[in-house]
Amino acid sequence: MKKEDKEIIYDLLKKTDAYVTGFTSSAFTAPVAFEDDVEQAVEQDVGQAVLRQAQEPQGQAPATGGLTMEELKAKIVRCTKCQLARTRNNVVPGEGVEQPDVLVIGEGPGYDEDMSGRPFVGKAGVLLDKMLAAINLDRTKNCYIANIVKCRPPQNRDPMPEEQATCFAFLQAQIHILKPKMILCMGRIAGHKMLDTEAPLNQLRAQFHEYNGIPLMVTYHPSALLRDQALKAPAWEDLKLFRRKLDEIIAGETAGSSS
Ligand code: URA
Repeated sequence: MKKEDKEIIYDLLKKTDAYVTGFTSSAFTAPVAFEDDVEQAVEQDVGQAVLRQAQEPQGQAPATGGLTMEELKAKIVRCTKCQLARTRNNVVPGEGVEQPDVLVIGEGPGYDEDMSGRPFVGKAGVLLDKMLAAINLDRTKNCYIANIVKCRPPQNRDPMPEEQATCFAFLQAQIHILKPKMILCMGRIAGHKMLDTEAPLNQLRAQFHEYNGIPLMVTYHPSALLRDQALKAPAWEDLKLFRRKLDEIIAGETAGSSS
């Protein structure tokens, strides 16, 4: 509901109260702050920061007018824009290094992540760390790990389209701040949201796509590999292809900076 509509209803209640009681009770004299109006302002703020950073010349650190990752995280953990806020224990904004080679995107926190506030720390997370280590990637050295939604969907159901849409401004802002060289989407939900498609995962994987000019690959979610060992071989092929492309990008940057 819009702030204006709430003000009309509030005004109506105030008048009804005055009519019934003969005067305006103290319940209706205090200034009102509607919580989601505050959140709306936060969303506008994030949106504006995304725009400001999108307008910055490429290759420059975020300008002082832009949000830092710490400021953005502070906004993310306060968010109550969707129903997932009611059932979460902790918000899981993401973690990793500041200027990562790779941004890894999952779908959303599970039980362990919800309890700890950190991404990919359960069984799937342990496997993800091994998959990344196999191609010399590490969340403490050269990666950042985030999710499409920052709060756990109850019973680990898929995040709903409206929950994903509400949370997406945060991921966009993270991408603008981090400026990763490449993006690796783990699973169908992340791939679909980032590429705005509903194509099956086996049609999306094993090739490069782009998100705002950043090379992006979609591969199997580690949870899928835990359920089905047969997916490990194709996932390994994806990871090798991904690493080769990252090496090319890094070599190109090194050559460019030394000439
Ligand atoms: N699965 C995800 O997609 N993300 C997490 O953070 C954990 C499990």
